[in-house]
Amino acid sequence: MSANYNSSYAPMSSIRYCVRCCVPATQEGVQFDEMGVCTACRSSEEKMHIDWSAREKQLRVILDEAKAKAGNGYDCILPISGGKDSFFQAHVLTKVYGLKPLAVTFSHNWFSETGFYNLQRCLEVFELDHLQFTPARGLVNRLAKKSLDAIGDTCWHCHSGVGAFPIQVATRFKIPLLVWGESLSENDGRATYQCPTTQFDRDHFTKVSARLTADEMVGDDLSAKDLYPFALPSYEEIDDTGVWGIHLGDYIFWDDERQTEWIRNVYGWRETEMEGAYKGYKSAECIMAGMHDFTCYLKRGFGRATWQAAVDVRNGLLTRKEGFDLVRKHDPERPEALDYYLKITGLTESEFFAVMKEKKLAELQGVDLPVNKKLQPNAERILPFVEQIIEKHLHLPDVRIARDQEKLSK
Ligand SMILES: [Zn+2]
Repeated sequence: MSANYNSSYAPMSSIRYCVRCCVPATQEGVQFDEMGVCTACRSSEEKMHIDWSAREKQLRVILDEAKAKAGNGYDCILPISGGKDSFFQAHVLTKVYGLKPLAVTFSHNWFSETGFYNLQRCLEVFELDHLQFTPARGLVNRLAKKSLDAIGDTCWHCHSGVGAFPIQVATRFKIPLLVWGESLSENDGRATYQCPTTQFDRDHFTKVSARLTADEMVGDDLSAKDLYPFALPSYEEIDDTGVWGIHLGDYIFWDDERQTEWIRNVYGWRETEMEGAYKGYKSAECIMAGMHDFTCYLKRGFGRATWQAAVDVRNGLLTRKEGFDLVRKHDPERPEALDYYLKITGLTESEFFAVMKEKKLAELQGVDLPVNKKLQPNAERILPFVEQIIEKHLHLPDVRIARDQEKLSK
């Protein structure tokens, strides 16, 4: 690592950044070539030289075959969260290729009001049959507490559930094909467009985000029975169904900005204020996204704004300096979701920061990471939308009596 790579306006002098965008060396899996350019920047160059019409033909063959094999069953599984990619995937599958997917959602149980609306809107507008799995509130809270210590962020249950649930549905309902959205080349920094990850990897989400398997999360407060919904099907079950998956972004030219604008105008998708970010469209379904990104900042010295700035600089929407200015403003912001996190886990703020200090990368020990107070309250309430509905109805007059009786009987 050398300070020579950095211009004077880089936010952290002790971190090396891609010379072209804002990607830091502390991002896991990132590689720089001899010019100091990151894999994601190289991938975005590749993206311009790909014969997308040939790729589209490949996609049509894959989807036609899936349709032919499915008979009266579902043609594929469409994992959705209600985020912007969900709408685009649903549009492509149902309107462009005429497939009948089964939509599946792993709910983290942290849906924001906007996110709740978006998911319902997606199901309605594309006429999707839908299966959703939602772990119980208390289990989510206990997992969120354990997650911090175990993997250094608050979201193990979501990382693993998002990976496991669609595969569970695939094996149980015998629907082999899973169709995800964005290419891994775009956001992962590990894959490239030349070799898209068409081979199915059961353990992908465990490797890149969840890190620990369901078994490994069993402990004092969490039984194997609690963790059962997060376990992946066996390799045998996966082979029996022939489960595999594709990312539409490997076959269709993917443009986040334009797609977001389009689904907003055509389908009424909505964005919202996102903590620690300067755009409102990534992970808009979750009230805790800001915590995920804030813990990344405390561990690795960068958060969501760095990620967004890197993409915008790469796409020519910002200069590198403008990107770094946004990073400085947003990444260090203490998210309001931290208050909710402390409430559900019973941790104190100093206990939280003590855990995060331990999780900080060795190369950043001794580096001061500022934390700034958020200047304005979040536009949207940081409380799961279902809790907001319950809270509201418990205060309506006819329910109050039942609630008071409930109290008396305790
Ligand atoms: Zn780069």
